[in-house]
Amino acid sequence: MITIEDVLKNVKMKLSAKNEALIRSAYELANKAHQGQKRKLGEDYIQHPLNTALNLAKVGLGYQTIIAGLLHDVPEDTKVTLDEIEKKFGHDVAVLVDGVTKLGKIKLRGTKEEIYLENLRKMFLAMATDIRVVLIKLADRLHNMETLGALPKEKQIRIARETLEIFAPIANRLGIGDIKGRLEDLSFKYLDPKNYNYILKLSREQHKLRKKYIAKTIIVLKKQLSREKIRVIEIYGRSKRLYSLFVKLKRYNMDIKKVYDLAGIRIIVPEIVNCYETLGIVHKKYRPLVGRIKDYISLPKPNGYQSIHTTIFGPEGKFLEIQIRTKKMDNEAEFGIAAHWVYSEQKKTLKDIFFRNKVKVPKEEIMWVKQLREWQNDLGKDNQEFMEGLRIDFFKNRIFAFTPMGDIIDLPEEATPIDFAYKIHSEVGDHATGARINERIVPLDYKIKNGEVVEIITSRDRKNPNQDWLRFVKTSAAKSHIRKFRKK
Ligand code: MN
Repeated sequence: MITIEDVLKNVKMKLSAKNEALIRSAYELANKAHQGQKRKLGEDYIQHPLNTALNLAKVGLGYQTIIAGLLHDVPEDTKVTLDEIEKKFGHDVAVLVDGVTKLGKIKLRGTKEEIYLENLRKMFLAMATDIRVVLIKLADRLHNMETLGALPKEKQIRIARETLEIFAPIANRLGIGDIKGRLEDLSFKYLDPKNYNYILKLSREQHKLRKKYIAKTIIVLKKQLSREKIRVIEIYGRSKRLYSLFVKLKRYNMDIKKVYDLAGIRIIVPEIVNCYETLGIVHKKYRPLVGRIKDYISLPKPNGYQSIHTTIFGPEGKFLEIQIRTKKMDNEAEFGIAAHWVYSEQKKTLKDIFFRNKVKVPKEEIMWVKQLREWQNDLGKDNQEFMEGLRIDFFKNRIFAFTPMGDIIDLPEEATPIDFAYKIHSEVGDHATGARINERIVPLDYKIKNGEVVEIITSRDRKNPNQDWLRFVKTSAAKSHIRKFRKK
């Protein structure tokens, strides 16, 4: 049982007296409106909006989002109307509550696939209007997952599947690693209890085995870093979440010895330059494993994730993953896009709290939000095809390749030189005859790897794209360009 005080205690930014009073009055309204309603577990209904608001506060969101979190089930389930909410709490809050209500009304007619696509489409539409609607929905879903045990088994499985297939990938795309991980682990527990329990046991055993080892290594690294005059903000051991461990283990035929980032060490330092200094010091002390150094600082993941990862031969020659990042990167890895929202909601105070005046204003329009708007224009087109493309382009891991001029081209995993060519320009794609990667000729169905320099060879003699390319291209842009010629 939590109270409104728990929510207020967890608000990350300074609240003006006026805004605090608004939050309290939203709570009172919700409490009165839901009076007498119970959740399946038997607790008062108000516990649900309170927990939703608490989740939002923890991610660092501002008073408008927290108020909307408290009121999110009010218009749907009580007599209080949206108009009353707008009068009391303003237009923005009303838009948020309305958005969440609309997201909730999903018609359950049609095939599984149709329902899934419809869900996904609604999420994206909501995102393009105000991303906070989706953040509230995620906080709401997180609490529903935490109390899923009270529902009948069939419902548990349906909700858990939906969470794993729709909500967790969206949390991931928004860069909210914490919510993504919690949603995945909770879904895993209901969808595959046998493997969940196996992984849970395995992870606990490994944790026990490695605890001392990691503690020892931390002491060595601390000493070394202080000798080199690097200020360390935090250094701690971390273990992999259950579901992501399971996914990885499956890839390696359940061979635990092949998973190097099962447990590792995270080092938080003040500035970007300190990250690279730290990497150098770590490598001077412990030999790195070839091909396992990942610089997501200069090449961030598409969801904005930044960090350096390296796997080393630690003491006693055991593999150990080390992650190095700044405090700001760490906040963003946990809070993701929420961190940006906090910023635009309350610019002045946030500067003091999160960014300490050192960091530039984050871009308000993150690239993929723009991309969403573009996709939205395509919504009139065939739903199925649109959604297929969205699923592949949006959720799969991304790679970054370079043009010979050094421009970064963002592509889905396993993309080919043809995808790359169409990403540059449809003319380049249509006339492509070959490709060079790092100065070497490669076939057109070559799978581009992260960081490769790709040069497309074109010829005016080629009039049309080859329809055979459809067998291997990965992006929907390339596919639709190639198909255009088939139709002609
Ligand atoms: Mn709810």
